Amino acid sequence: MADYKELAQVIFPDITQTVADLEKKYPKRALKEGAMVTRFAPSPTGFLHTGSLFSSFVSYRFAKQSGGIFYIRLEDTDTKREIEGSAEALVAQLKEFDILPDEGYFGDNKEKGAYGPYQQSKRATIYAVCIKHLIEQGRAYPCFCTADELAELRKMQEARKIIPGYYGPYAKYRDFPIDAVIAKIKAGDPYIIRFKSMGNHENKIFFHDEIKGDLELTENDQDIVILKSDGLPTYHFAHLVDDHFMRTTHVTRGEEWLSSLPIHLELFDTMGFERPKYAHYPVIMKMEDNRRRKISKRKDAEASVSFFLEEGYPKYGFLEYLLTIANSNYEAWRETHLDADYLDFELRFDKMALDGALFDLAKVQSISKERMAYRSAVDLCEEVKEWAKVYQKELYEKITADESYFISILNIERNKEKPRKDYAKYGDIYPMIGFFYDDVYETIDLDALPWNEQIERGEIKACLMDYAASMQMDLSEEEWFASLKQLALRHGFSDNVKEWKKNKAAFKGHIGDVSEFLRIALSGRKNAPNLYYIIQILGEQKVKQRIKQVVSTL
Ligand code: GLU
Repeated sequence: MADYKELAQVIFPDITQTVADLEKKYPKRALKEGAMVTRFAPSPTGFLHTGSLFSSFVSYRFAKQSGGIFYIRLEDTDTKREIEGSAEALVAQLKEFDILPDEGYFGDNKEKGAYGPYQQSKRATIYAVCIKHLIEQGRAYPCFCTADELAELRKMQEARKIIPGYYGPYAKYRDFPIDAVIAKIKAGDPYIIRFKSMGNHENKIFFHDEIKGDLELTENDQDIVILKSDGLPTYHFAHLVDDHFMRTTHVTRGEEWLSSLPIHLELFDTMGFERPKYAHYPVIMKMEDNRRRKISKRKDAEASVSFFLEEGYPKYGFLEYLLTIANSNYEAWRETHLDADYLDFELRFDKMALDGALFDLAKVQSISKERMAYRSAVDLCEEVKEWAKVYQKELYEKITADESYFISILNIERNKEKPRKDYAKYGDIYPMIGFFYDDVYETIDLDALPWNEQIERGEIKACLMDYAASMQMDLSEEEWFASLKQLALRHGFSDNVKEWKKNKAAFKGHIGDVSEFLRIALSGRKNAPNLYYIIQILGEQKVKQRIKQVVSTL
């Protein structure tokens, strides 16, 4: 009679390495006490999801703040669902947010680190070594069931109202005679490999999750598939082997994996591998009609990281926002550490939301606005230029043609205690400041300017002509405003809004109206940055030129 060892040899005749060899090849990492090894393990089945950016950023920070290692592992065993180019895009998008792995998969089949290969499709031998070991121990076996047989089993279980699945008495090949199994294999019958569970679903197991706390779970009793017919492992088995031999200390992943945790714990124990710590992240939710729901790639633009990149949300604003949903104490910390780098904040598992993190686009915008307002114009110019190079060619050309002009525009009311908070993203800038460029100004329909209809066009014209004739460039902001008040008075407008309110009949309007004439004439809009600076930046010639053009339409 053949034994398990022989069976293992029939299935894996070429595997000569042992689990002990792998232990030696991938030794425990020499890191300081408390250093975490975390990973991001995307499947190349689509583009980066905001939820994945959240988990990779948080995992990355946990590794970095503890002096540990963060790596990327490409989980590419589901060849049917793979989308060409998505692995490269994932890595590139993480890079845009400065999530730079210490080791792992770097895109384009490149990788770095001593614990690889980091692409699951290249680890077939390593999985085979471990599965061979389990077969030798009588803890894994080939299963020859066809899809029809499994469907039949399920139907029967449903009809009898018993727990569905392949386990215990329903596991046809679990205790099949080894000789018969070998004969089937030799005859070429197709099979997959299953794990032989020793669990019982009537038992409870107790487990501590770093985020969820103490959990009571149902023991696994399913003989799950560990090796598929294509020779690649299932997620469960790859997780066991990879996180063990890559020496992950903290398995950080989405809470959708919590229900399979009992399988994973049994696998770790059966292999005699030390269990890693687990931290199951909350799902990213959004409010809709007063109800929470998962953000979805199909329904929500903000579910794709590319949305934030295209719109030009600055990474420091977006990542800071992610910290606010990661840890409930982040905002309080920020209030007392106004000038600190957000990377100085120490993330903690026990401060993470338990029941879904709420995503709020308005808050992303307000944080970005706040942060962008305090960037120096020079730094902001660099960021916008990099972004515009990819997403807004027209602006990119303008910036590169005259960088100091663009910087002076960005500088308007910037370096002060309470700077202007105009932009929530790079994409907001050009529509707001395009008028500074003549070719954009030329596209404005001067016959449709938003003039105040209460004031006769002739009055507007007179004020504008007077301004062009009397303007002086070398005035301070106060002096300039004083001169504008003089101009207002000369034309029968009050130089004081309060005064005007008290006696409206005595005036044609007030100083605010006069500055609005100029603002509209120079920018085409009622809302534009500080008028004094618009004039300073445009310069005398352009101001006169634009007024002349506008006056001709009045
Ligand atoms: N490839 C798995 C996924 O994309 C990774 C889960 C994990 O982090 O272990 O969901």
